[in-house]
Amino acid sequence: MKKFSIFTIGCRTNIAESEKLRAVLLEQNFQYTENSEEADYIFVNTCTVTHRADRDSRKIINRIKKINKKAKIYIFGCAFYLFKEDERIRILNYETLLKEIKRDKIELSVLPPEKSGHSRYFLKIQEGCDYRCTFCIVPFKRGKSRSIPPESLIYETEIALSKGYREIVLTGTQIGDYGKDIDKKLNLKVLIKKLLDIDLNFRIRLSSLHPSHFYKIFDLLTEKRIAPHLHIPLQSASEKILKGMKRPYSLKFFDETLNKILNIKRKFSIGTDLIVGFPTEGDKEFKETVNYLENSPFSYIHIFSYSKREGTPAAELKEIDSYKMKERMKIIKEIDKEKRRKFMESLLNSIIEPVYEKRENGFLKGLSEYGFQVKFKGNKIKKGEITNVLVKKIENKCLIGVKIGL
Ligand code: SF4
Repeated sequence: MKKFSIFTIGCRTNIAESEKLRAVLLEQNFQYTENSEEADYIFVNTCTVTHRADRDSRKIINRIKKINKKAKIYIFGCAFYLFKEDERIRILNYETLLKEIKRDKIELSVLPPEKSGHSRYFLKIQEGCDYRCTFCIVPFKRGKSRSIPPESLIYETEIALSKGYREIVLTGTQIGDYGKDIDKKLNLKVLIKKLLDIDLNFRIRLSSLHPSHFYKIFDLLTEKRIAPHLHIPLQSASEKILKGMKRPYSLKFFDETLNKILNIKRKFSIGTDLIVGFPTEGDKEFKETVNYLENSPFSYIHIFSYSKREGTPAAELKEIDSYKMKERMKIIKEIDKEKRRKFMESLLNSIIEPVYEKRENGFLKGLSEYGFQVKFKGNKIKKGEITNVLVKKIENKCLIGVKIGL
């Protein structure tokens, strides 16, 4: 039996794609191995969103070439253009790769997922993006928004649930645009409702969603089976910079959306993304961002330093001084630390519902519905199951608790 390994760099969409690839290969009687030295085929799902992602993709491929001299290497994902084909390396896009492997036996969108290393199931509902943020290379690599039909997604979810997954994470490049390429009446809300109609005990977590898409799902946010964890990428809190980035919302609109969410009678963890040092970000614009963040209800901030991507409009602009960049990163990191601390403290003595991932140093470990890691004591449960944990304290930036109930 031929063996294969998969390496994944980047976002949840890449994780979802790699999981599906793994399922297709298992279906075709290939054997999965974590030890890439013994693999006959090695698949690398790359990312190019920043310089660091490029570097990681290159590093992994160079390492593979060194430790395994015979395997065929398949490179796909957004950073494919950084590599060249040779007698061992093949470069192709994800759909072509799947088509080649499945030899037309199974359809891309109706593959039965296998229980893998992950405890949550990443359901890729669409890919591609119709926006053109001036710093972003993704639309050039992923193309326009394409959605997977709801029937296929329902089928995939049912199979995932039958394999023991209890949390389904909806992923894609731009999940808020789901459905519009298939049917005017189809959108994210319609899809979520269809998924929630599946008569089993599970929850749905949404990945990143633009503020301009929230109106579609507002009335679903009180639904208990939707995790109270929202990720709304802000990128900058300066109107001028948002315009320069061509983001599809203003700060005013973003703020109104946040307030609407905060008015819902339910506790939410709201995370965001922030790009520090976009080329035209002066001291004034940075200060505006700092002020906004300090007073914002965010529970965490994913921070990125601006990374010039050739071919994007922002690449034409003068980059900011690297010393300034470092200083600004430091300031935002401090704010993030404080936000996390505050949010975690708000969970003390409350009961949370993590999905169990693994055992670590005598603890069970999982990810809470709010997107924060928790370690807890208690009887072992099945990987992927959701349990109740009473939060007792915070240690090393992690919630510590004790499992309650059965
Ligand atoms: S919305 Fe903007 S940042 Fe996000 S993938 Fe599309 S172009 Fe890139």
